[in-house]
This record gives sequence, structure tokens and C-alpha cells, in this order.
Amino acid sequence: MAESNNHIDFLLIGQGLAGTLLAYFLAQAGKRVHVVDQYNKRAATQVAAGIINPITGRRYVKSWRVDELIPFARETYHALESKLDIAIYHERNILRTLFNSREENDWMARTGEEGYEHYMLDRAGLKAYAEKTVPAYSYGEVRHSAQVDVGKLADAYRAHLREQNAITEERFDFEKLEIQEEGLRYGELEARTAVFCEGYRAKDNPFFNYLPFGGAKGEVLIVRIPEAGFEKILKHRVFIVPLQDSLYWIGSTYNWKYEDDSPTTEGRDYLEARLRDVLEAPFEIVEHRAAIRPAVKDRRPFLGRHPELPQLAIFNGLGTKGASLGPFWARRMADFLTENVKLEEAVDIGRFER
Ligand SMILES: Cc1cc2nc3c(=O)[nH]c(=O)nc-3n(C[C@H](O)[C@H](O)[C@H](O)COP(=O)(O)OP(=O)(O)OC[C@H]3O[C@@H](n4cnc5c(N)ncnc54)[C@H](O)[C@@H]3O)c2cc1C
Repeated sequence: MAESNNHIDFLLIGQGLAGTLLAYFLAQAGKRVHVVDQYNKRAATQVAAGIINPITGRRYVKSWRVDELIPFARETYHALESKLDIAIYHERNILRTLFNSREENDWMARTGEEGYEHYMLDRAGLKAYAEKTVPAYSYGEVRHSAQVDVGKLADAYRAHLREQNAITEERFDFEKLEIQEEGLRYGELEARTAVFCEGYRAKDNPFFNYLPFGGAKGEVLIVRIPEAGFEKILKHRVFIVPLQDSLYWIGSTYNWKYEDDSPTTEGRDYLEARLRDVLEAPFEIVEHRAAIRPAVKDRRPFLGRHPELPQLAIFNGLGTKGASLGPFWARRMADFLTENVKLEEAVDIGRFER
């Protein structure tokens, strides 16, 4: 293709965390990228805390592929911090409330297992939580966890794309898409491949809506707790996540059934009640937000090209764990798109029948 601003290699649709990371890796590979995104303050990326938590669930098991995901995520976010001159990766231990002796025993047993001592501490250091929260039966502490300001990353990357004239800020219009033999046109733009990174809105994508998208709504509160001084993350039914200026992210709810993506009174009441259960300090609610996670039933991302139209591809399904999954799989998706490196079966959309 001739080199001009309108001739590009990849057209990306959607610039949440998935689109941001993929755009970054494609640009790193020397490809010309243009993004179409309609900013939405209710996109999952704008509402998420961005917690990277290596030990999850009631059985305290390591998250899928976490030994590879976390070091790669850390390296990628640090590289983006330098490139965009922002601070987004905050290494923070997670304190996890253990509600009874059974939970405490399970935790202690797990800390002794091979591969777990790297992430789990048998003694938790409560620090400021000791004075400002209701004491629980016991606590475990997770390390090599982090909180990533994924919304701030998407905003900074959007500013970078604007500077490069590489973003069109509008709702993608499927009527304007013309699929050609060797590529496609979108208005004035000609590209080899379009990659859809639309988050949960992919369920309305006429080419990829055969994939089993779920979508799980989550609501969160942003609260001010003056003088709390918490530095670690606490998980006591809900998460308390330090942001900045005495602000904390409290969340979240998790619903597979919902009418829309608006915040609800029930969601707010639930979160406020959970916070009151644990916090012994006054707080003020500053914001109440909601979004829909691009969650999928088998909890594995969606990567690949359309089975009949290879000009169209998808990078989605980051679910509840975009902050840790995103960098690693965006890099693999970029390698697949640019070098034809085979995708792993677990994430390849070829696992679903069209
Ligand atoms: C309440 C909540 C808490 C969360 N907490 C965490 C957490 O602690 N840790 C973690 O790792 N993950 C967390 N997540 C999950 C995380 O947010 C997601 O995994 C990730 O942000 C998904 O990114 P995405 O780019 O796929 O989707 P999105 O963030 O939804 O971005 C999609 C983008 O595409 C745009 N778009 C869609 N369709 C079109 C169209 N047709 N035309 C133009 N633009 C379009 C949207 O406007 C948006 O900008 C949380 C999510 C929620 C909702």
C-alpha cells in the first residue's frame, strides 16, 4: 500500500485498555495504526481499580499464568510510564481478611506450598488499618500485587494518538465499512486489517457477536477518608484501594443480570453498608460509578481473526482482570497480527464454532 496518512496497517475500534495496549505494541512493531473510539466514562477501563492480584478466590489459588503475566505487565506499564510521562503502576500489597479458623488454616497451608511463598506472607502487617478498621479474625497478606491507573493510561494514550492524528473520536459506523479483497476501507481510511477492541459493546458487533460474550456489571464508590493513611489494599468483602489525596476506590458489585450500565441505588447502598461494616473512620462519598466488564464464560480472552473475513480481527474478553491479562495478550496479539505467530488455543477464538 502507498504511504499516506490515510493508508494504514491496522484500524483499531475501541481504545479502552485493550485497544490502548494493542495500539502500543503494533506501533512498537513499526506498524501504522489508526484508532476509532467514542470516549465513554462508563467504559470498564474508566471505572476499574486496576488491581493486579496474584492470589484469588476462596481457595487462595494463583491466578491463571500469573508467574508470566505479572512481570510482563510490570515491564509494559513501566515502559508506558516513561513514554507518556505518567505514573500508573503502584506496587501495593493486598491484605485479605480471614473470617474464621478454617480460612486461616487454609491460608497458612497454602503459604507453605511450592510457588506460593513468592506471593503470600504468613504474617500480615496491618499498619494504619489496625487503628481505623474493625478487627477481623485474622489477615493474610499478598505481595507482588499492584494497582494500575488504567483509566489514566487510556487518557494519556488518547492524547498521544491525537498528537499523531491517529484517532477519530466517533462511534464506529458499520455502514461505512467496506471490505475489500486485500483489506478494507472506513471512510477515507484504507487498512489491511481492522481489530475490534470494543469491550462489552462487542456483543452488538455484527461480525463477532457469535462469540459467547457475557458482560458483568460492576458498581464502585470513590470515597474520601481523611487521615486514614492506608497504603495497602484491603479486601474485606469489598476492596478498599488507596488512590490519591485521601481518596479510595471501594468496590465492587458483580452482576450478570442488569438493565443498563447506570449506577443504581441498590449498588450504592450495598457498597456503603460493606464499607461501614469495616471502617471505623468518617468518610464522604465523592462519586458513584458503574460499568460493564467484558466478561466471558470460560474466562479466557478472545484473540484472533474472523474465520471467513481475515481482514477483521478481535482482541477482547479481558473480563475482570484486564490489568494483568492485557499487556501479555496484547503483545501476543500483535505478534500474531504482524508476524503470524500462532495463537495459543486457550485464547484463540477458533475454540468457538461460528
Ligand atoms: C467495576 C469494575 C472494576 C474492575 N476492576 C478491575 C481490577 O481491579 N483489575 C482488573 O484487572 N480489571 C478490573 N476490571 C476489568 C477491566 O476494567 C477490564 O478488563 C478492561 O478495562 C477492559 O478493557 P477493554 O478495552 O476491553 O473494554 P472497555 O474499557 O469497555 O473499552 C472499550 C472502548 O471501546 C469503545 N467502543 C466500543 N464500541 C465502540 C464503537 N462501536 N465505536 C467507537 N468506540 C467504541 C468504548 O467507548 C471504550 O472506550 C474492572 C471492571 C469494572 C467494571
